[in-house]
Amino acid sequence: MAEPELVDVVVVGLGVGGEEVAGRLAEAGLTVVGVERDLVGGECPYWGCIPSKMMIRAANALAEARRVNELAGSAQVLPDWAPVAKRIREEATDTWNDQAAVDRFTGKGGRFLRGSGRLDGPGQVRVGEQVFRARHGIVLGTGTRPSVPPIDGLADTPYWTNHEAIEVEELPETLLILGGGAIGLELAQVFARFGVRVTVVEALDRVLAVEEPEASAVAAAALRADGVEIRTGVKAERVSHDGSTFTVHSGDQEYRAERLLVVTGRRAHLDELGLETVGVDAVQRYLPVDDRMHVADGIWAVGDVTGEGAFTHIAMYQASIVVADILDHARHADGGADPSGTASVVGGAMGAVSAVGGATATPGPAGTVPRADYRALPRVTFTDPEVGAVGLTEEQARGRGINVQVGFTQLSSSARGWIHKAGNEGFIKLVADADQGVLIGATSVGPAGGEVLSALVVAVHAAVPLSQLRHMIYAYPTFHRAIEDALRELS
Ligand SMILES: Cc1cc2nc3c(=O)[nH]c(=O)nc-3n(C[C@H](O)[C@H](O)[C@H](O)COP(=O)(O)OP(=O)(O)OC[C@H]3O[C@@H](n4cnc5c(N)ncnc54)[C@H](O)[C@@H]3O)c2cc1C
Repeated sequence: MAEPELVDVVVVGLGVGGEEVAGRLAEAGLTVVGVERDLVGGECPYWGCIPSKMMIRAANALAEARRVNELAGSAQVLPDWAPVAKRIREEATDTWNDQAAVDRFTGKGGRFLRGSGRLDGPGQVRVGEQVFRARHGIVLGTGTRPSVPPIDGLADTPYWTNHEAIEVEELPETLLILGGGAIGLELAQVFARFGVRVTVVEALDRVLAVEEPEASAVAAAALRADGVEIRTGVKAERVSHDGSTFTVHSGDQEYRAERLLVVTGRRAHLDELGLETVGVDAVQRYLPVDDRMHVADGIWAVGDVTGEGAFTHIAMYQASIVVADILDHARHADGGADPSGTASVVGGAMGAVSAVGGATATPGPAGTVPRADYRALPRVTFTDPEVGAVGLTEEQARGRGINVQVGFTQLSSSARGWIHKAGNEGFIKLVADADQGVLIGATSVGPAGGEVLSALVVAVHAAVPLSQLRHMIYAYPTFHRAIEDALRELS
């Protein structure tokens, strides 16, 4: 058997997180092998964030045009999916070709290998017949795949995951969506706005169940107004397909549609990574990491595979910590010398996704590597209205025994909400720790709910005292000014 080849770092999985780590370490002068079995960039640019947000942009343009009738005369809207599909094909994904991303990585000095990587004993990664020995570290950024529930009959049907839904060129007339989480709702609203008759089937008693119940109610009402049928508390027991129609059976109920989209969550596939060869338990849902993303000696993980939040901004945030930590380790291993020879890795990769995420963490001297802190983790569901949330929900905070205060205000009762009129559904909800006098969670639902959220993220992240939040100036008449109203309601 060939001797393992010695390199500095091997990154397995070049999705958002892995590509960022690999690119920045290569730029810093380390010898980096990046291994990707599918497309460099991962889920986000090809089947996730970017194309889905292009779909949403188009669907929202239709919805806004329909609001002309209420506000500014009349408009006739004739939806056409062709420009959306074309934009996704040509602008977002280059027809699902990652050559530009591969070139971006190799242009930074990285070495690219197409294939599946797995751990092969301590410090080693195997890709087919090739084995690499990593001097400074191995990074696992292998992400997740759709988690398809074990529903009787489902596996034998030609159901869609997010891949087929994003790649669709011609819309079906009817669509059943299993799963009323963020992805299910975003796609349901898009397709409904383009004229598809959509039914969302959710097993829990409300959609968007991880967020505040008020957010679930607003999102459900908005989708229903777009013609989406929402069925909650429905457990799919059996799925069948007769060649043209899917049927989802639940008790004596049956739901039928031309297409079935399954978006019931995502799962890491740890069993494929050779974790047993380094003494790490592969029979868990995600790879547990510490606050510097260590999995085990010489092994780091980044992104969705860590289970800390399935968001591109989490992958980018973690990547900046991993880069700083590996450079710190390399510096120590090399007796204090900067492996890059330039003492700087600031700047980072600026690829399609990096340009969206833009995380930067500067590795400092030993002991100053930043540590992950998820208290102010923001999340946005890009329905219309958008549902933005940060930190704890009221229920989570109460569950932790915190002395909770809640402030709530409807967006329509703010000046801007009232002016906005058509499409002004939404609210601000604040969750405060009364003993500490700070916000520990917040939800912002509205036409710009995700943007309004930014002020609340700063407040939670920096633990800004409520007294200061109450005595700052909020521009009139903005949507974010409703935060001041919600602060007044805190009790
Ligand atoms: C429809 C949809 C919409 C989304 N919208 C948003 C959004 O608006 N905002 C947001 O923040 N997030 C969004 N996300 C989530 C976001 O896409 C993920 O959080 C992000 O892609 C995670 O990046 P990652 O690097 O951890 O994993 P991934 O992007 O999944 O990349 C992992 C890569 O590893 C590769 N791989 C796996 N195993 C191996 C192996 N053994 N060897 C070699 N390669 C391997 C895979 O092929 C893949 O390319 C969305 C997701 C979906 C599905």
